[in-house]
Amino acid sequence: MRYASTRGSAPDVDAASALRAGVAPDGGLYMPQTLPAFSAADFTDTPGLAPLAARLLAPFFADSVIGPALPGICADAFDFACPRVRLGEADDAPDILELFHGPTGAFKDFGARFLFRAFAALGQSTDGPATVLVATSGDTGGAVGCAAEGVTGTRAVILFPAGRISAFQEHQLCCWDAPVEAVRVSGDFDACQSLVKSAFANEALSRAHNLTSANSISIGRFLPQMTYWARAALDACAETGIAPGLIIPTGNLGNAFAAVLARACGLPIGPVVLATNANATLSDWFASGQYSGRASIATLANAMDVGAPSNFERLAGLPDGQIAGVVRVDDAAIRNRIRASFDETGYIACPHTATGLEAWHRLDNDARAERRWIIGATAHPAKFADTVEPVIGKSVPLPPALQAVLERPVRCRDIEADLADLSHILATRG
Ligand SMILES: *Cc1c(COP(=O)(O)O)cnc(C)c1O
Repeated sequence: MRYASTRGSAPDVDAASALRAGVAPDGGLYMPQTLPAFSAADFTDTPGLAPLAARLLAPFFADSVIGPALPGICADAFDFACPRVRLGEADDAPDILELFHGPTGAFKDFGARFLFRAFAALGQSTDGPATVLVATSGDTGGAVGCAAEGVTGTRAVILFPAGRISAFQEHQLCCWDAPVEAVRVSGDFDACQSLVKSAFANEALSRAHNLTSANSISIGRFLPQMTYWARAALDACAETGIAPGLIIPTGNLGNAFAAVLARACGLPIGPVVLATNANATLSDWFASGQYSGRASIATLANAMDVGAPSNFERLAGLPDGQIAGVVRVDDAAIRNRIRASFDETGYIACPHTATGLEAWHRLDNDARAERRWIIGATAHPAKFADTVEPVIGKSVPLPPALQAVLERPVRCRDIEADLADLSHILATRG
C-alpha cells in the first residue's frame, strides 16, 4: 500500500515511512492511495476484535515488515473488552459501544497500543531509535505513555502544561517506566504544542533524535480505530439485517474518520453522525458547507475542545456526503443528558459520551426507528468524576485498571516553554 499526502506535493511513501514520518514533508496528512473492498462475508471467520483487525488492516500494511507481524500486534494491542451495551428495552433503543475498557480508560488506548507495537515491529531504523514526541492536554499522553512502556527501539517524550491538567491526568502521564519520559512545561497547552512544532521544524534536532509523532494524524492511530466500528457494525447488522448508524463524539475527527474509512472499505455502516461539544467548527461547516478553523473554547467534554480538527483535511479528500449530520451540544445540555440518562436508564456517561447520547435524542423519530444506532462511549465516567458525580448525586468509583495507575510512583522533569530546554531534555535521559 502506498500513502499520499493530502496536500499533494510530497512523494508517495510506503506504510513504514508514513508511520515513521507522522506528518508528510509538505505538511499534509498521509492517506492510503487505494482502499480494499471488503464485504461482511470476509469476516465470518474472524471472531472478536483482534482477528478482525488483522484481516481488515492487512491490505494497509501489505509489503511492509508490519504485515506479517499484524496478527501478533493486534492480539497484543486489542486484549481488552469492547462491549456493546443495549440502552433499554424499546425497539428503537440505541447501543452504546464502550471504548473505554483499555488500561487508561479512554478509546485512545486502541490507537496508541497499536502504534507502539507497530513501531516495535518496524525495528530501529539505521538512524537509531525513533523518539515519539507528543504534547498533550490529558488523555492522549496517558494512553501513549501506557502503550509505550516497555517497548524497545523507541523513546516516548510527553510534554504537558504545568497546572493545567487534573491531578489524576498528571499522575497518568508521569507513572510509566522506560522508554517513557514525562516533561512538565511551564506554559499552557498551546505553548507545549508550539514547542513540539518548533522541534519538528528544526531539522538538526529532528534528525538527531528521529523525531516522530503519535497524535491522531498518524496512520498508526486512525487505521486501528476502524476495527471496533467494523466489529460493532458487523454484529449489529447480523442481528438486525440493516447497516447500523453510528454516532461519534468527536473533536479532531480521528475516531470519526476511522468509521468513515471502514464504511468506504465495504463494512456495513449506515449514516455517521458527529456529536461535538460547544466548539462550532464542524456544525458550522455542516450547515454552511464552508470550513473555517478557529481557536478552541473550553468545555466539560475537554478531550473534544478542538477548534481546527486536524483530520478535516482527510475527510475533505473523500467524496462529499460522508457525514449525515453534526450535532453540537453545549455544557448545559451535556449536564442535562448525563442526569437524564442516569435517571431514565441508570447508565452513567462521561461528558463526551453524553454528547453522543444527546445527539441520538435529537434524531427525528423516523431516523431512530429505521435502524439500530450505535453511540461511541469514549471515556470511563470515573475519569470525569468532578463533572459527573455532582450531576447524578452518586459517586463513580475508579475501575481497577485506573486505580492501579494511582498506586504507581511518578517522575517527570520540568522545563520552560523554550526550545533550548527541550533540546537539553532530548539530549539527556529522564
Ligand atoms: C480524544 C477524545 C475524543 C475525541 O476524539 P477525536 O478522535 O479527536 O475526535 C473524544 N472523547 C475522548 C474521551 C477522547 O479522549
